[in-house]
Amino acid sequence: MRFGTVGETGGGIESCFQPGRSIMHELSIVASIVESVTESLAAYPGARVVEVRLKVGALASVVEDSLQFCYGIATADTPLEGSRLVVRILPVVVHCAACGAEGSLESLQNFRCPSCGEPAGDVRQGRELEIDSIEIDEAKESVFP
Ligand SMILES: [Zn+2]
Repeated sequence: MRFGTVGETGGGIESCFQPGRSIMHELSIVASIVESVTESLAAYPGARVVEVRLKVGALASVVEDSLQFCYGIATADTPLEGSRLVVRILPVVVHCAACGAEGSLESLQNFRCPSCGEPAGDVRQGRELEIDSIEIDEAKESVFP
C-alpha cells in the first residue's frame, strides 16, 4: 500500500491506490460483510468479532490491500471494530472439455487446460467471494457471572 506524499495535487483516498481504479468495489464488499456478520452476531449478545475469514476467487477482481483498507474504515463503531480480516485467494480452476481434466490455471492471462493446453472456458472455481468463517469472542463473563 502506498500513500501519496503531502502536497501532491489531486488525490482523495482513491488516488492512493491503483491510479484510475476506484475502491468502491471493495467498499461495497466490505459493507455487505459487515452487514451479514452483524446479523449473525444477533444470536450472540455482547460478542465481539475477533477474525473474519474471506474466500476470494482470483477472478473476483478484488485488491486485497484495498479490502483491508476499507475494512478498517467500514468496521469502525460496529461489533467488528478491531477485528482481523483474513483473505484467502482461491486459484482459478477450469474444467477441460477436450480431455476432461480439471486443474488450476497458472496464469489468468492463459485460459488453457493445464493438462492438454486446449482453451478451457469452463470455470469451476475462481469467482467466489464469500465469508469462510468468523471467529468471535463470546463475552463469557456475562454468561457465567
Ligand atoms: Zn485438457
